[in-house]
Amino acid sequence: MKSRHKGNKSFLPSKPCAVCGRDMTWRRAWRNNWAEVKYCSEACRRKGCADD
Ligand SMILES: [Zn+2]
Repeated sequence: MKSRHKGNKSFLPSKPCAVCGRDMTWRRAWRNNWAEVKYCSEACRRKGCADD
């Protein structure tokens, strides 16, 4: 029991877009506001903010 498999670099967090439901995978650009990211694209963001 010596080997540890810790080299799973490909794991990234993901969550569904609030508008289209598509899985969004974590992006480096979002590292500072990942918790606030709700939409996968500008188009979805506009739909999500249509209430404004
Ligand atoms: Zn979307």
